[in-house]
Amino acid sequence: MKALVKFQPGPGHVELRDVPEPTPADHQVKLEVTACGICGTDLHVLHDTFRNFPPVTLGHEFVGRVVEEGAAVKGTVDRSGRYAVLGATAVRCGRCRWCLSGDFMLCPDRRGMGHGVSGAFTRYTCVRPDQLFRLEDSTPEEEGALVEPLAAAVHAVGEITEVRPGDIALVSGPGPIGLLCLLVLLHRGIRTLVAGTSQDGARLALARSLGAWRTIDVQKESLAEVVRAETEGSGVDVAFEVAGVEASARACLESLRPLGSYTQVGHFGRDITVPFDRIGFKQLRVAGSVGYTVATWVRTLRLLGEGLRPSRIVTHRFRLEDWQAAFELFEQKEATKVLLRP
Ligand SMILES: [Zn+2]
Ligand SMILES: [Zn+2]
Repeated sequence: MKALVKFQPGPGHVELRDVPEPTPADHQVKLEVTACGICGTDLHVLHDTFRNFPPVTLGHEFVGRVVEEGAAVKGTVDRSGRYAVLGATAVRCGRCRWCLSGDFMLCPDRRGMGHGVSGAFTRYTCVRPDQLFRLEDSTPEEEGALVEPLAAAVHAVGEITEVRPGDIALVSGPGPIGLLCLLVLLHRGIRTLVAGTSQDGARLALARSLGAWRTIDVQKESLAEVVRAETEGSGVDVAFEVAGVEASARACLESLRPLGSYTQVGHFGRDITVPFDRIGFKQLRVAGSVGYTVATWVRTLRLLGEGLRPSRIVTHRFRLEDWQAAFELFEQKEATKVLLRP
């Protein structure tokens, strides 16, 4: 079968290769992948700016159907189900305090699918049954490929940050995770401003069509002025930095009202300089958000059942063979979320 493989360390070294079809181990099931989204992490693996372990098949945001079960798990999985897959727990120690508390993201031994072990930009992959999260029957299958990034947004917005009815939120960075944060905020009825750069034009337009209260191109207008105008001069209640850009982090700190909450969702990949005194003098609460827990996934699946449709951020669908064009469109920010269909 064809698989999109990072075949050796260093920048690049990704191509579509023939790999053997996997057979499930005793405790695994074999899944037929029906759709897999391209994530910023896949670009990082391509450019070697994120930890990876070649040879490894990319892709971790996927949905599929069970086609075969290992001997030890025979009969335990409903074959008629469509499943979103928690690839992040592919390898974890299962014994440390973080694994035991469900905060497996922090396990020092953790390796996720798509960079640590082989992922889902291919036709078949093998996982453990505990990694499967069944979609409710009312949920369209494609939504399953959005569960992983949506869970990251649910964690940031609904678990890490205290967002109250009547709050005004700022999302800085309209990439897929930023727009999914927007969707979760809107689902909770929160008035949300979304900021980006001129290169984000298409994504800001998408944010407006999703229901953002106001979008701001920070290269064309002053974010500080818009925030003042929209909040009677006081500043936003909560800010989510999702761009992983120094100027964006600074803008979030400046835009918050005293006693507001700042949540770091994006990754900078380097040290940055921000006016840290703002945190003290405005008495801000600052938190980091990485990934999700098992409980987040359960909650995320319920949100899909309630009608939240993360696939609204999907702008393009490609065949796996056309991965290169898909990656480029995503990298140029012309696309927001791109699904590959093996
Ligand atoms: Zn992802
Ligand atoms: Zn652990």
